Amino acid sequence: MSGRVFSRASSPNPAVAVEAHGSTIVDSQGREYLDAAGGAIVVNVGHGRREIADAIAAQSARLSYAHGSAFTTEPLERYAAAVGAHLPMDDPAIYPVSGGSEAIETALKMARAVQIARGEPGRWTVLARWSSYHGNTLGALDLGSDALGTTTELVDELERTIEAAGPGTVAAFVAEPIVGASLGAVEPPEGYWPAVAEVCRRHGVLLIADEVMTGFGRTGRWFGVDHWGVRPDILVAAKGATSGYWPFGFAAASGEIHDQVRAGGGFTHGFTYSHQPVAAAVAGEVLRILESEDLVTASAAKGERLKALLADRLGDHHAVGDIRGRGLMVGLELVRDRSTKAPFPRSAKLVEAVLRIAREHGLLLYSGTGNANGVDGDIVLLGPPFVVTDEELRRIADGLREALDLALVGLAAG
Ligand code: PLP
Repeated sequence: MSGRVFSRASSPNPAVAVEAHGSTIVDSQGREYLDAAGGAIVVNVGHGRREIADAIAAQSARLSYAHGSAFTTEPLERYAAAVGAHLPMDDPAIYPVSGGSEAIETALKMARAVQIARGEPGRWTVLARWSSYHGNTLGALDLGSDALGTTTELVDELERTIEAAGPGTVAAFVAEPIVGASLGAVEPPEGYWPAVAEVCRRHGVLLIADEVMTGFGRTGRWFGVDHWGVRPDILVAAKGATSGYWPFGFAAASGEIHDQVRAGGGFTHGFTYSHQPVAAAVAGEVLRILESEDLVTASAAKGERLKALLADRLGDHHAVGDIRGRGLMVGLELVRDRSTKAPFPRSAKLVEAVLRIAREHGLLLYSGTGNANGVDGDIVLLGPPFVVTDEELRRIADGLREALDLALVGLAAG
């Protein structure tokens, strides 16, 4: 290949992906890779779905673009109604965009618009937790941090932070129900989410659930907050919503919030590719597949199976501190010392070696770093498509064990 692309790949000569099916990606040399991470925990319904390709072809032949400021479209209205049945909010409305970061930015502006519509223009601060990742645009990056501190999950800390910010200045609190990339499928302590929702409500702070990674069945329920019966004011989704077949995401608000924003003069916002009809057609088809093949239930069951296999292959491994997660969002924490959970130093680049070796052996994984103290710490994140087979789950557990052992040998050899 000519190499005229700013590359994201860690290797100077990345393989050329040419086709994919199920949980497998094939490169131009005919090599097959088992996609144990669904890319970046994206491909929920599996690769190579003919029916989605057909939906793209049909919608783009009929109507590929109509600007959102002038039109709404049939696939978009159909999708908003269909997805609303699964969203954990009353009478929801969605603002469709092109991905997770845009959806987060949309949610932040939406929260501000709600507070202004409620007559509270002084609420402009948005709180997020340490060690979180909400996207790569400047506003979204500002929310996250994996450079400082440790995860703060205590509810009274949230309350103290709201009070310290000043009464009536906090517009919203944003968090992932189960923390994905930055911590590796870490669940909050039981009771955390309902208590957080109560604190937010009591202080007039909107609760924004970032379900970009956890949404659409990834954790074995339609949305992560469903595990605790929590109903956020605003919910952000992307990734699994279109399973990687089309860039898409949305910020959803409850009907009450939608009405408040409308009554307050509306929501001045938009991107050239927001409200895109082909994206909506893809999202609609992905939703139909998730429903008709009962893939959310499959994610829950296969996730338990994957954790059991990992516990068997790696449960007593000296460099494994924890195996955790729900549904097919499973994290593995790598540690230098199992008893103290002390991490490897970042300079060892352990997880990078694990990913490289696994890829050389035809297994694709996802990683995170800095989970221990903002700098050190290595996690492997697994998120295969929900159509993954039992034989593939075994290959994932075996391949991960092998890659970890080889990476540790390499580290010891210096
Ligand atoms: N929020 C969470 C929880 C994510 O994991 C990500 C991406 O990994 C984003 C937001 C940003 O999404 P995108 O990469 O589609 O902009």
